Amino acid sequence: MRAAINSSLAKTKVALIECPDYDEEIVSRALRQGIDLLGGITRFVRPGEKILLKPNILNGAAPEKCVTTHPSLLKAMGLLGQGNGARVSFGDSPGFGSAQTAAAKSGLAAVAAELGMEQADFNTPAQVSFKEALIAKQLILARGALETDGIISLAKMKTHGFMRITGAVKNQFGCVPGIRKGEYHVKMPRNEHFASMLVDINRYLKPRLYVLDGIMAMEGNGPGSGSPRKMKVLLLSSDPAALDAVFCKLIRLPAPFVPTMKAASESGLGTWADEEIEICGAELSHLVAADFKVIRQPSVPFDRAFPYYLKKWITARPFIDNSLCDNCGVCTEVCPLELKAIQHPADRKNPYPVFDYERCIRCYCCQELCPSGAIDIKRPLLSRIIHR
Ligand code: SF4
Ligand code: SF4
Repeated sequence: MRAAINSSLAKTKVALIECPDYDEEIVSRALRQGIDLLGGITRFVRPGEKILLKPNILNGAAPEKCVTTHPSLLKAMGLLGQGNGARVSFGDSPGFGSAQTAAAKSGLAAVAAELGMEQADFNTPAQVSFKEALIAKQLILARGALETDGIISLAKMKTHGFMRITGAVKNQFGCVPGIRKGEYHVKMPRNEHFASMLVDINRYLKPRLYVLDGIMAMEGNGPGSGSPRKMKVLLLSSDPAALDAVFCKLIRLPAPFVPTMKAASESGLGTWADEEIEICGAELSHLVAADFKVIRQPSVPFDRAFPYYLKKWITARPFIDNSLCDNCGVCTEVCPLELKAIQHPADRKNPYPVFDYERCIRCYCCQELCPSGAIDIKRPLLSRIIHR
């Protein structure tokens, strides 16, 4: 009996809390329930501390689009932190454009103003050294993410073309200011390198608590243009890999398909092993969405040195549905390559941007940030046959 208790205590806890909608009272109750299962708020917030809440704002969108962390969750966590005597702020850096505008569009700025929470400086970059890093020994991070006593990550449950899902681990990429994110894509186009860098950011910043807003998730063409999907859950843990592993269980996606899992377990950031995770709270089997629309194949390693035919046949590529494109030019702006891999053709006979697939590094920034949902990802035939 004692052995069983000990082994249970040694496991990483993930709280799975059913939460039917974004009613403020209901979200607040669900959040408190989850935090209590993990040891209570005093484990994560102490009086007098400066606590940063890190939602997912991406490029700013109305809450019903399910692109961003819902304002009800920011409010519930803000009140909880303030109630425990902390000075609470919030911040995230969008993929492009101003952090202030994106926060206003998402409804998060209004909630923050109501609570008197400042928006932290996510525009000014600071370089830090991290000698224990797997890959990113020098990190460029937003000043606001560094000048705090502790971070609570408020992630959004969504799909992601490159990393398969964007959950707890991926959320901290928003601590890289603005277009500096593109530099990481250019330096680390291989998915396992990019995943290691995401893990490094988490290991450096050490968020104390990760909360995943899966009340209304995003499936399909995420993380910016997918469809809302009611999942009715909040997930909470101090281990982001374990939390993401439970997200995978909910959508029946094999955890190893998510490239951050391997780097997280090898570096000690967290675990995705079933036998090391204790799910507490709701019964997982009642909340599973096996038909959740997500790319159900491993992320294929990509290397710029690959010959073109290999890229063409095995790596998924972005494509444009011209009927949805309004020629805003964002895709060209956010393409991180100096010589852009998506541009308007010089002759202007075709009014829509076109890809140079030979140059394209398959980072999917254009797909992620196209404001019209005109860019999706197509798997090549060979890849579809292999992973059928
Ligand atoms: S970002 Fe989207 S809508 Fe804008 S030009 Fe590119 S494909 Fe068209
Ligand atoms: S075209 Fe799109 S996927 Fe290709 S490198 Fe540019 S942003 Fe990345």
